[in-house]
Amino acid sequence: MKERLLLLYKLNRIDKELHELFSLRGDIPAKIDDLNSEKNVLDERAGEIKAEQETIINQEKSVASENDVLLEKMEKNDELLRTGAVKSNKEYDALAKEIEDAKSKIKANEKALKEDNSSRKSEIENELLLIQVQLDEINAELEQNETELKELTKQTGEEEKELTSDREDILKKIDKSDFEYYERISKVRFGEAIAVVRKGSCLGCYSSIPPQKAIEIRMAEKFYSCESCGRILIAEELLTA
Ligand SMILES: [Zn+2]
Repeated sequence: MKERLLLLYKLNRIDKELHELFSLRGDIPAKIDDLNSEKNVLDERAGEIKAEQETIINQEKSVASENDVLLEKMEKNDELLRTGAVKSNKEYDALAKEIEDAKSKIKANEKALKEDNSSRKSEIENELLLIQVQLDEINAELEQNETELKELTKQTGEEEKELTSDREDILKKIDKSDFEYYERISKVRFGEAIAVVRKGSCLGCYSSIPPQKAIEIRMAEKFYSCESCGRILIAEELLTA
């Protein structure tokens, strides 16, 4: 039992050191996450309006090619009228009407091309520019944070690797149920799952422990937890033994 308790104690020491290493990195990893999600939002918006821009351009192209067809037909009809190839009045009127219709259709198309889309197109262009400016800023900030994180990780990486491998070795020796017990307390005590008992006090919360219980904790025949803070207790004598 003492051995099981000591293993949890060692695990806690490693976890605390790892936690300290991570806290050195401060809020940089969270900052990087934030920047990346801002970037995603902007990328998505840019994609949306680029698609809209493309739709407008395609529409304009198809209107323009419709105009070309109309223009060609109009010229042909014009030619027929001028060369006097048309025999009857009825035929003449029909052709003249076709020409008029084509003219007004072309006019309407041209007007639509100019008026309906130009303001939307420049809105899109402006927004895309604005997005690009924001993206440039975010990318610069991202790069700076990533460099900082890389630097910090380089400094602490070796230590982290050692601690992580020590942790894995210890975990292999710890009972699954002991580890679950440890994890439960670690979670609510922010990584401080184990407290040393020194001279009848819990060093986790400094509350005193009844003498009889202190003796039992020294015997370590089972796990004891502090009645006021809930940490798993280990007698200091066990650490020096
Ligand atoms: Zn306590």
